[in-house]
Amino acid sequence: MGLHEDIAEVLFDEATIRERVRQLAHEMERDYAGRDPVLVGMLRGSVYFLVDLTRALGIPHEVDFMAVAAYGTRHAATGAVRLLKDLDEEVTDRHVVLVEDVVDTGLTASYLVRLLRARRPASLAICTLLDKRARRIAPNLPLAYVGFEAPDRFVVGYGLDYRQRYRNLPYIGVLREEVFREGPP
Ligand code: 5GP
Repeated sequence: MGLHEDIAEVLFDEATIRERVRQLAHEMERDYAGRDPVLVGMLRGSVYFLVDLTRALGIPHEVDFMAVAAYGTRHAATGAVRLLKDLDEEVTDRHVVLVEDVVDTGLTASYLVRLLRARRPASLAICTLLDKRARRIAPNLPLAYVGFEAPDRFVVGYGLDYRQRYRNLPYIGVLREEVFREGPP
């Protein structure tokens, strides 16, 4: 079975994503000109987005990565997050942009914001590919850049996985019920 057959509906196609990423990069060029920002990609979901964003970004910047694991499941989020991989570089006095795949309840982002702010960056902003605003629990996140507002549905593709698969789909789509029912992510 091909990966495409498992997709019930495409929400954002390849051309739409490409254009939106270009727009976000332009906004960042304007906001961060002369500030040498550090883009912090969250492994592994934001990698495809981050790579396209950084290639479209025509100002000097750096790239670093972090990885976290959430305790509990999507439907029983506790907000407890475990740090699996920290940054390689210091971010004190740097302009930091946290690049996320999805901000859902916002609990993961909230943890990361607290962790990064403790290091006294010059500024901190979040850039997320998808914003599931309807499910937000964490208040006051510094969401400066949002690719798309997404509905409360589990999506895959363009870096987003279901059981580590589907990341390589060039679009963002909703999995067919039969596939999803095999078990929770
Ligand atoms: P939050 O802490 O905001 O509730 O959860 C954010 C994380 O949940 C994202 O970084 C992502 O890993 C995961 N997530 C939330 N919604 C989706 C989705 O629709 N598809 C996938 N693949 N992951 C999701």
